[in-house]
Amino acid sequence: MPDNPIKENSYRQLPDAFYAETALDPAPSPNILLLNHGLLKDIGQDTAWFESPEALAILSGQKANAACPSVSLAYSGHQFGGWSPLLGDGRAHLLGQMRDGAGDLIDVQTKGSGRTRFSRGGDGKATLASALREYLVSEAMAGLGIPTTRTLAVIATGEHIWRETPQKAGIVVRTAKSHIRVGTFQYAATALGPDNVKALADHVIQIHFPEASDSANPYRSLLDAVIARQAGLIARWMLVGFIHGVMNTDNMSIVGETIDFGPCAFMDEFRPDKVFSSIDTGGRYAWNRQATMAQWNLARFAETLLPLLAEEEQAAVAAAQEALSGFVPVFDSTFWSGFAHKLGLNPGEDSRNLAQQTLALLSEEQTDFTVFFDQLTSVAAGEDQAGVTDLFLNRDITRPWLERWQALRATDACGAEEMRRANPRVIARNHQVEAALADASERGDLTLAKRLAAALRHPFEVSDADRDLMVPPEPSERITQTFCGT
Ligand code: AMP
Ligand code: MG
Repeated sequence: MPDNPIKENSYRQLPDAFYAETALDPAPSPNILLLNHGLLKDIGQDTAWFESPEALAILSGQKANAACPSVSLAYSGHQFGGWSPLLGDGRAHLLGQMRDGAGDLIDVQTKGSGRTRFSRGGDGKATLASALREYLVSEAMAGLGIPTTRTLAVIATGEHIWRETPQKAGIVVRTAKSHIRVGTFQYAATALGPDNVKALADHVIQIHFPEASDSANPYRSLLDAVIARQAGLIARWMLVGFIHGVMNTDNMSIVGETIDFGPCAFMDEFRPDKVFSSIDTGGRYAWNRQATMAQWNLARFAETLLPLLAEEEQAAVAAAQEALSGFVPVFDSTFWSGFAHKLGLNPGEDSRNLAQQTLALLSEEQTDFTVFFDQLTSVAAGEDQAGVTDLFLNRDITRPWLERWQALRATDACGAEEMRRANPRVIARNHQVEAALADASERGDLTLAKRLAAALRHPFEVSDADRDLMVPPEPSERITQTFCGT
C-alpha cells in the first residue's frame, strides 16, 4: 500500500493570520461515489491509496490527516460589487498538498466538509447534487483544455441537510494549483497591512511565478502575469459559451484556473447577454460582460499591490494602470484567434470581421452555439452545407454569410485539426447535467453522470452511443436559471 501522498502544506509558510487550523466535520456514513482515475493518472498518482479505507476516512473527516493538519483559508471579496471584509473558507478544508509528476504542489481541498472559523452563517455543508455538478463541469473544462481546478472525488456523507427541502449531502474533493484568490490579496491589504501583502506576494511568486523574481520589479511582473492568465482564461471560456455566473473577486484564482463552480453553465442558444445564475439579477456576469468584470476584479488586485509597485503613490498607480491595460490585447488576441479557428480560418482582419458577423447572425437567430460550429466543422470537412443552412430561418442573411465564409476558406483556411479542436461536439449542457444530478441524488443512479463525465473528457469526438449528448434542449427542456444549490 503506498503512503498517503497528501503530506505537505505550503500555506503554513504564510503568516498565521492567513489561515486557521480546522478539523473536518466527520461524515456519519461516507461513501466514495466517484473517484477520478483520469485525474490521478494526469498527476502521476497511484490510485491504490485513494481507494483505501484510510483515504476514505481522511477525505470524509472521520480521521485527521496525521501527516499534516487541515486548514481553512481567510479571504475577503467583492461579491456582485459589494464588499465583504471577511469571507474565507466557510465550508472547505485544505487537507494539504501532494506532488504531481513534475514535482509541483497540488492542493487537495474538501468542500462541504463542515463549519470552520470562517463560517458566517450556513451549515458548512454542500448538497450531493452541487458536488456532482462541480465534478461534471470541471471535467468538461479539463476536457476542453481550459485551466481549471479539478474534482478528485465525490463523497456522499450519508446525512441530509436542509435546503428548502431535505437534500443528500456530499463532499467534493478538489485539486488546484492554488486556492489563493484575488480576495486573499484583498484580505491581506485591508485586514493585515502591507508587510503581509508582501509576504503573500512573495509566496505566490516563489511557488507559482518563479520567473517574476528575476525581473526589476517582481510584483509588477506578478501583476502582469496574473492579468495575462485571466485575460486568456476568460477568452477561452467565452469561446466555448461558458458563463461562470459568480465572478466575484473571491472566486478569481491568482494562478488563472477556473474555480468555484456554482451557478455556472455552458449556453445552448446564443445570446450575448445570457445569464444563468439566479442570483445575478443585474446581469453583472453575463457572457459578454465577463472580460469587463475580470478587469474590474484585476483592478482590485492591482490596488492591493500598490505599495509594492513603486515608492511614490503616483508612480505606483501609473504602473498598475499600465499593467491593467495589458488585459485587452491578450484577451483580444486569444478570443479572435480562437474564433478564427472556430470558423476554420487563420487569424487576421478578414476572419475577425466574419467572426463579428457570425456573432450577430447567431444572436439574431438564437442558434445553438455548439451545434452551429460543430456543423460548420462538418461542412468544412466536405459534408453537405444544409447541415448549417438548416439551422437558420432567415436564408437571406445566411446565404451571403456562407458565401463569404466559403470565399475566405478558399484562400485562408486553417488546418482541419485546428478547427476541430476549437469546436467541441459535447459540452456540459444544463438539461443533461440536471438530469444526471436528479438520477444520482434522487435515485442513487450514477449511470448518466458517469457517461456524461466520460464523454466530456473527449469533447471533440463522440461515439454513436453518446450522440444524444450533443442534442440541445427542446424549448420545454431549457434550463434558464441555475441556482447555487450549495
Ligand atoms: P461561494 O458562493 O461558494 O463562493 O461562497 C461564498 C462564501 O460563502 C464563502 O466564504 C463560503 O465558504 C461561504 N459559504 C457558502 N456556502 C456555505 C455553507 N453552506 N456554509 C457555510 N459557509 C458557506
Ligand atoms: Mg467561492
